[in-house]
Amino acid sequence: MNHADLSHAPPRGEHVVIVGGGVIGAFCALELVGSGRKVTIVDAGRFGGACSHGNCGYVCPSHILPLAAPGAMSGAVRAMLRPNSPFKIKLRPSPSLWSWLWHFARRCNKADMMVSAKARHALLQSSMTLYRQLMAEPWMQCEWSPRGLLMVHHEPREFEEFESTNEMLRREFGVFATPHDRAALERLEPALRPGLGGGWHFEQDCHLRPDRLLACLRARLESLGAEIREDWQVRGLRRGGAHVTAVVNQQDEAIEGERFVIAAGALTPQLAAELGCRVPIQPGKGYSITSTPPRLCPRLPMIFEAHRVAVTPFEGAYRLGSTMEFAGYDNSLNPKRLALLQAGARHYLEEPLGTTIQERWFGWRPMTWDGLPLIGPSPRLNNLLLAAGHNMLGLSMAPATGRLIREWIDGEPAHLDPTAYLPARFG
Ligand SMILES: Cc1cc2nc3c(=O)[nH]c(=O)nc-3n(C[C@H](O)[C@H](O)[C@H](O)COP(=O)(O)OP(=O)(O)OC[C@H]3O[C@@H](n4cnc5c(N)ncnc54)[C@H](O)[C@@H]3O)c2cc1C
Repeated sequence: MNHADLSHAPPRGEHVVIVGGGVIGAFCALELVGSGRKVTIVDAGRFGGACSHGNCGYVCPSHILPLAAPGAMSGAVRAMLRPNSPFKIKLRPSPSLWSWLWHFARRCNKADMMVSAKARHALLQSSMTLYRQLMAEPWMQCEWSPRGLLMVHHEPREFEEFESTNEMLRREFGVFATPHDRAALERLEPALRPGLGGGWHFEQDCHLRPDRLLACLRARLESLGAEIREDWQVRGLRRGGAHVTAVVNQQDEAIEGERFVIAAGALTPQLAAELGCRVPIQPGKGYSITSTPPRLCPRLPMIFEAHRVAVTPFEGAYRLGSTMEFAGYDNSLNPKRLALLQAGARHYLEEPLGTTIQERWFGWRPMTWDGLPLIGPSPRLNNLLLAAGHNMLGLSMAPATGRLIREWIDGEPAHLDPTAYLPARFG
């Protein structure tokens, strides 16, 4: 299917209802309002209040490779056998989880990894270009910082092993990091403990403050006439054949529209029966702790590879984040998982956390087994599109996702090949 198949000469001024006010829904709305449409965003909770709120804030085109890679399954099993591992699967009799794991395992080979990598790269690069344009806008004040992303290895052997991956990324995608051995690493980032293995600095990556980004997008959208309805949970669709006429909430209130975009993140599978397609998304739970900056605060955002902890310095704040838990829709704030972040960071930083905690948080990453989002039309409903399943990269992929959705709706040629993201690939 190409973009033109969806176009029925869409009239400007038509009403588009977007389900989900996370970073993906927000960027879809920005594009659609910009093209002269009336936009309503409905959210079951607060706009920007779910996974897009407390994440690490990396806009990282370096994250090309998907989780499903050669050796990932054995690595996952080893991690699960270690006590206090940042990676955890709560095994349970869930057909959707087992199906997801089975498909994921089948993708753990080089050929499939490279197929996903190519499609991720396109979306990441396009989003970075769009972010750079957006950051020039006076209304956008979200602590954008072009300081790159430093991957820190605890052991020299791990540091050296990354060289072949770096070479492959350079050769295949033109993306690469600068190596810093132990001594150079100490000079580059004085907040690190001495004696670490080394680090790779992806200098093209950037970071921002996610809650500020969402606040700016909200203000902009409202100033352009978009309506945001919070505490409005969609429980179903009203349809005439393959045509959706309205979304309906728990109280049987309806919002009518001409087009519908489902951007409900990790909760999208809960609407799958209504959507007319498979939505193999599992919630991949992660945590963050935000504090005041430690006295010896890192200058650079960093990922501590072996312990899977990420660090982000903000203005007047500082965040530790990550861990990955496949535990279904578990909404507990587990203190043990939060403590793991601090314990992991302690191996690398003199001061792993500031003195005053500002927020303890979790989010459900919308994980697909091929590491790619679902962007494009529902295979069954002719005026409904999906924009969900952005895995660990929703913030980094949001602007290009919004652009693709607008291009689908406009019936315009896509600015990048949209085939790999089609929801129809799942049947
Ligand atoms: C610890 C952690 C760190 C991360 N760090 C990064 C990072 O550094 N860089 C990066 O790119 N990504 C990062 N991510 C991933 C990123 O946060 C997600 O990919 C992204 O937020 C997904 O955005 P979304 O808009 O799809 O989902 P969400 O932000 O979850 O938004 C979906 C919205 O849909 C609403 N909704 C759901 N169902 C319904 C319904 N039935 N009716 C109405 N509304 C509904 C929800 O209330 C929610 O507000 C991180 C994630 C975690 C957990």
